[in-house]
Amino acid sequence: MQTLETDHFYIYHYGEDSQTLLDVVNALEGSFTRLVNIFAAGLEANKVDLSERVKVTIYPNQQAFHQAINYHNPPDWIVGTASGGHIKIVSPANPGPSTNYDRMLTVVVHEFVHIVVNAAYATLHNIPEYLSEGLASYYSFQARGLQNLVRNAVKDNNFPDMNTVFAMNTSNGAYSYGHAFVEYVVEEYGTDTLLEYIQKQRIETVFDLSLSVFNDEWLAYLVKTYLP
Ligand SMILES: [Zn+2]
Repeated sequence: MQTLETDHFYIYHYGEDSQTLLDVVNALEGSFTRLVNIFAAGLEANKVDLSERVKVTIYPNQQAFHQAINYHNPPDWIVGTASGGHIKIVSPANPGPSTNYDRMLTVVVHEFVHIVVNAAYATLHNIPEYLSEGLASYYSFQARGLQNLVRNAVKDNNFPDMNTVFAMNTSNGAYSYGHAFVEYVVEEYGTDTLLEYIQKQRIETVFDLSLSVFNDEWLAYLVKTYLP
C-alpha cells in the first residue's frame, strides 16, 4: 500500500495512476474549506479542527472494497463509506457497473461531508438517515439522478408525509428525499436554519409550522422548482 500526504488528507492506495490520484485529491482539497466553513460552529463547539489529516483509502476494485468494509454480498451501488473518521472508496478508475469515474469523484466528497457532519454534531445521539444522506448528497452536488424519484412522486401525486420521510433509510429514499429536504431548507430558509434544524430536529420548533403545513409548503416548492 502506498501513501500520499496532502494538506488535509492521507490517501492510501494500491498503485493508482497519477491522474486518478490527482482528481481524488482535487475533489477533496477543493471541498475542504467550503465544508469546514459551513459547519464551522459545530466543529468549534466540539473542538474538532480536522487538522489531523483525514484518512482516505482507495481500493483497486469492488471486491477488495467490499472485503475491506466487511460487508457480505453488498449491493454494487455501495462504492464508498465513511466511518470512524476514515473514508473508503472503490477506485474511480475501476468503480464497477453501477457508477463511473466522474460520479466517484462526487462520492468521495459525499463521504467527506459525512466525516465533517459527524464531527460537527458528535454530541448528537443520532442523525437520521434522510438528514445524514441529504446533507452528504446536497453538499457534494449529487443532484442529478436523485431528483427523479422525488419529481415522479410530485408528478404522480404520491408525495410522502413527513413521518414517512423521517423514517426513510438508504434503500427506500433517504438520498433523494434527504437531498430535496436539505435543498428546500437551504433555499427557502437559509443555512443557519438548516444548522439549527440538524441540532433540534423538530419541524414545529424550528419552522414554527405543523408537520402537515411544512409538508404542504415543501411540496408547493417542489411543484414550482422540479416540474417544468
Ligand atoms: Zn452517504
